[in-house]
Amino acid sequence: CGVFGIWGHDKAAELTYYGLHSMQHRGQEGAGVVVNNRQKLNVHKGLGLVNDVFKEADFSQLAGDTAVGHVRYSTQGERSFENVQPLVFQSQTEGMALAHNGNIMNAETLRGELEEQGSILQTSSDTEVLAHLIKRRGMGINETSISDALNKITGAYAFIILTEEKMYAALDPSGIRPLSIGRRGDAYVVASETCAFDQIGATFEREVLPGELVTIDDDGIASTRFAMRGQRKMCAMEYVYLSRPDSDVNEVNVHASRKRMGKELADESPVEADMVIGVPDSSISSAIGYAEASGLPYEMGIIKNRYVGRTFIQPSQELREQGVKLKLAPVRGIVAGKRIVMIDDSIVRGTTSKRIVHMLKQAGAAEVHVRIASPSIQHPCHYGIDMSTREELIAANYSVDEISDIIGADSVAFLSEAGLEKAIVKDKTIHQGICMACMTGSYPVNANGEREAAYRN
Ligand code: 5GP
Ligand code: SF4
Ligand code: MG
Repeated sequence: CGVFGIWGHDKAAELTYYGLHSMQHRGQEGAGVVVNNRQKLNVHKGLGLVNDVFKEADFSQLAGDTAVGHVRYSTQGERSFENVQPLVFQSQTEGMALAHNGNIMNAETLRGELEEQGSILQTSSDTEVLAHLIKRRGMGINETSISDALNKITGAYAFIILTEEKMYAALDPSGIRPLSIGRRGDAYVVASETCAFDQIGATFEREVLPGELVTIDDDGIASTRFAMRGQRKMCAMEYVYLSRPDSDVNEVNVHASRKRMGKELADESPVEADMVIGVPDSSISSAIGYAEASGLPYEMGIIKNRYVGRTFIQPSQELREQGVKLKLAPVRGIVAGKRIVMIDDSIVRGTTSKRIVHMLKQAGAAEVHVRIASPSIQHPCHYGIDMSTREELIAANYSVDEISDIIGADSVAFLSEAGLEKAIVKDKTIHQGICMACMTGSYPVNANGEREAAYRN
């Protein structure tokens, strides 16, 4: 998912819309904006792409100088209108809008407790639980009630909370999900990805820190800490696949990190071949890096139909396979008779690689060597990225050679864990550091909220 918030601009809803548009790749299932006119929170949201949801939107009805927005892709909760964010809660004294990226690991337990105590929840989304925890204190919405509520939830989260009076932004104690602060003139902006700042002409100011609760209001910005800050464990898949190449994630440019993944991969797993090709769009950067490091020419061997959405986001395997067919086509005149290094960013179920290898061979490729610019994914993600279950993960069930046979490649190799870390992390400090749990099986935080101990301060 992607979250966006702005405080102090008279076109808050429009800028939020543009910000969300630039983060469309983070979720295509639903989108919404809640705007604050200092009296009331007004919402416009719906299922579908940002453009579809806002096609009919009347921005004159969305007047206000602060707003929060969300693009959704569901890992928890169903695909229904109720679950589209931001979630809005009204009480006699104040309103609250909530936008969340991540996954609350103990949401089911907390939901059970809340229901036992008489709460009725409107959605099946884990996000609603936080709203109840905040309000249950009976002291209104402020730093204390939010901090207390955050201390009850575990997992990975980047939250933006908007009331008529303030905007809050919070990041989980391990900083697994991205969240940055920017400025546009006097206005403050908060977003999952820095590409949203560029989109609206804002400049990057700083990262929200792990365990930090930021409060923004007409007096400016203030910061408190609701948890001891641990070693930063930024999701490595943000770099590998999820984020836009022009974004800086935890101050590291995504395109540049992907090029370094390609370089490491070329050093670790060279191939005698005629050309390097990348699977558009997310593997082009790493393919360029591989080509540069190996001295092989980079070619455009596959083109993408830009009018088809991301395959992964389709719910069923059948739809997913259909999606790959519609989406990619080989450039026959380039690949025919050639020995090809085909770079993809990751293998989850193996659907994409299998289809593409088949496609390239049908187009006459002499050899197809698959090189994956991340380690093999063998473990589920509990932090909000849809890797699904172990049974579906091809690398959890088959060896590299077996995978090569299954997808019909001449050879397969994955980037090592050390190679990935080297491509992303400049210096190992408390500020830097990545989560690679889906590859290594070593999880930075468990459902009880216990964290890996390294580098506390
Ligand atoms: P597979 O086809 O092996 O199941 O999935 C891997 C392909 O899906 C890659 O080409 C990757 O770019 C794309 N993909 C789409 N969404 C995701 C995601 O959420 N995680 C990962 N790792 N890959 C994804
Ligand atoms: Fe990202 Fe994998 Fe960690 Fe999930 S387990 S947060 S996908 S690196
Ligand atoms: Mg891809």
